[in-house]
Amino acid sequence: MNAHRHLHDHDSGEGLTPVEEARQRVLSLIAPLPPVELSLREANGCVLAGDVVAGKDIPAFASSGMDGFAVRARDVAGATPDNPASLSIVGEVAMGHGADVAVPAGGAVRVPTGGIVPEGSDCIAPIEHCLVEEDRLLVLLSPEPGRYVRPAGEDARAGDLLVPSGRRLLTPELGLLAAAGRGSVWVHPRARVAILSTGDELVEAGAALSYGQVPDANSVTLYGAVREAGALSLPSQIVPDDPKRLQKAVRSGLGGADAFIVSGGVSVGERDPVRGAFAGSNEVDFYGVAMQPGMPQAFGIVGGKPFFGLPGNPVSVFVSFEVFVRPALLKMMGHRSLFRPEVTARLETDIAGPKEKTQFARVLVREGADGWTATSTGSLQSNLMSTVSRANGLAIIPAGVEQLRAGEQCTVMLFREFEG
Ligand code: AMP
Ligand code: MG
Repeated sequence: MNAHRHLHDHDSGEGLTPVEEARQRVLSLIAPLPPVELSLREANGCVLAGDVVAGKDIPAFASSGMDGFAVRARDVAGATPDNPASLSIVGEVAMGHGADVAVPAGGAVRVPTGGIVPEGSDCIAPIEHCLVEEDRLLVLLSPEPGRYVRPAGEDARAGDLLVPSGRRLLTPELGLLAAAGRGSVWVHPRARVAILSTGDELVEAGAALSYGQVPDANSVTLYGAVREAGALSLPSQIVPDDPKRLQKAVRSGLGGADAFIVSGGVSVGERDPVRGAFAGSNEVDFYGVAMQPGMPQAFGIVGGKPFFGLPGNPVSVFVSFEVFVRPALLKMMGHRSLFRPEVTARLETDIAGPKEKTQFARVLVREGADGWTATSTGSLQSNLMSTVSRANGLAIIPAGVEQLRAGEQCTVMLFREFEG
């Protein structure tokens, strides 16, 4: 990407890398993290790293589907309220225990829902269809063979594929794996992400500001973005505009982090510390992407770990994360589907953008009776986070298109459901 180093005037596409090409280059350098064994609870949301096959039949034994009596169908055939079958109650099955009695001809064993169906019986007479007189049972309606018996192996047979490799373990998968008796599974771990904000002007959000200082919004934005992608955020740091301090922060974080996201300081400015720290290292590429917001970008592998250098403006951070970092983190965590869903929406407002760049415009998308509509949430400037907070999508105005007018169709990447 060295050919794309010189960053030009803000509307020109000259020397800039197209968005898709930049994204593919990033993804081509990202590999899934090696699998680890996690308990089912810890594995919730992680991607399975190998097929899980049933070791045994599920359920393991035939059980009753009703509270009632295990009987022989032949003994109760033709029973009616006027002509009930009379059987002798010979025992009872307790939940969680084997049946220590079998059902003899002319006999019945009391069974609760979920209790083992004892040897000798082939159906259940539900309690609602019976009268009990001491140790005699009158069956008023005749169940056919197999009635109210939940057979062993009905959910899955030993050897059946339960969950395929590559599936994200959500509620349905967790329930099935637990029902299959699994305590743990091999999954791709959550990526541990180190988040660094660069800038002499930055102060922890919530702390007192002196004039000219700025709250560190990016590390909080990235915390949310990382967590919502299913990854883990390590404690973030504000690093001053000093390449040595930044280098030190990154090198000392290498042991515990799987990836780095640094915001600010990737431009050509004298004091831009990411450039100062890594431009000469051959580990990190600095290039301009033909996109707005988010043009200056840095990416490389530092000490074996993916390193993202994002421009400092808060909206640029948000958009760059969506376009480059999120797909990369998902790939690290074993996901096969890396991109946000897209819809085609009818614009309700004009949206203009620099002709040579892909514009990611913040929009509010709604689904109406005649399809999706998208409305701009405000100015295209990259420092206005309110435009993100009102949006649920990024309208993609491709390079080569200067303006889309209200009424025209537009592709929109949906980044969240919108509540309220
Ligand atoms: P830079 O990319 O470092 O040149 O920063 C571009 C703009 O983004 C400047 O106005 C910075 O003050 C602002 N900025 C950089 N980092 C942050 C941050 N972590 N939180 C909020 N604003 C930031
Ligand atoms: Mg800066």
